[in-house]
Amino acid sequence: MIIIRTKADLRRLTEGWRRAGETIGVVPTMGALHAGHLSLVEAACAATDRVIVTLFVNPRQFNNPADLAKYPRTEESDGEKLKPYGADILYVPDGAQMYPEGFATTVSVTGVSDGLCGAARPGHFDGVATVVTKLLLQTDADQAFFGEKDYQQLQVVRRLAEDLDLKTRIIGCPTIREGDGLAMSSRNLRLDGNARAVAPVVREALSRAADSICDGIPIAIVLQDTRARLTDAGLGEIDYLELRGDPDLAILSTADRPARIFVAAWLDGVRLIDNIPVPVTSPQARHLETAG
Ligand code: AMP
Repeated sequence: MIIIRTKADLRRLTEGWRRAGETIGVVPTMGALHAGHLSLVEAACAATDRVIVTLFVNPRQFNNPADLAKYPRTEESDGEKLKPYGADILYVPDGAQMYPEGFATTVSVTGVSDGLCGAARPGHFDGVATVVTKLLLQTDADQAFFGEKDYQQLQVVRRLAEDLDLKTRIIGCPTIREGDGLAMSSRNLRLDGNARAVAPVVREALSRAADSICDGIPIAIVLQDTRARLTDAGLGEIDYLELRGDPDLAILSTADRPARIFVAAWLDGVRLIDNIPVPVTSPQARHLETAG
């Protein structure tokens, strides 16, 4: 695996691969790699001839300067972690490569960007959509791999790829979790011992909520109980806890079609997000599921 830092060097390599008739996969990341990222790299290596992992801590998707400043930067160990996986390139552009002087374009996706992290982090998805569009074009990728851990982001990327007629196929990959259920995240590194012990309650609470919804308990009551469970366990502010339709992310008050439950909550100054699917429950929908 070689490290490439400029668009021009990247282009030279991808053009060579194209001449040889090879397919290209890309895994966009902000580094501090963990098994969640590596699962995407594995999926990419299985699907395409050549794989580019990108590492860019994108300032445009941070609405909070302190969060950007604290974001872990571990390029050297990221390179080491990638070695066994067979990626061809680690692409590490700097700010000037991505946003040269005079840069004035924003990609903005409406609809699926509204609410959830879009409401809690103003400007976040414009930053994500802009950088992902650039990375898909720069890498000339046939397929791009994203985690369901950031499910709203996955839908935003699917939308922009379709709307902008990009050739890249967007592939969603399952959330990888720690043994105790906590969704892996680069931000988990910032949890101290006590907070780390509390953090698995996020997934536990979501699982219980999904079970309760399946048992027919009204959504409003389930969400209220789940909030109480999280705050009783020591979570701080809850940015959102919502049931949304899948894949359009419309707000749902009944689970009569495919849905997911989404949460973002603060623990010890760290924002944790997670989401899980909620099986369809209404008799009519159950009929549709078995028929389909
Ligand atoms: P990030 O470095 O946080 O921007 O994440 C880069 C990619 O890795 C995104 O597509 C994330 O959704 C994905 N990702 C992050 N955490 C996980 C996880 N625990 N399981 C699967 N994918 C993940």
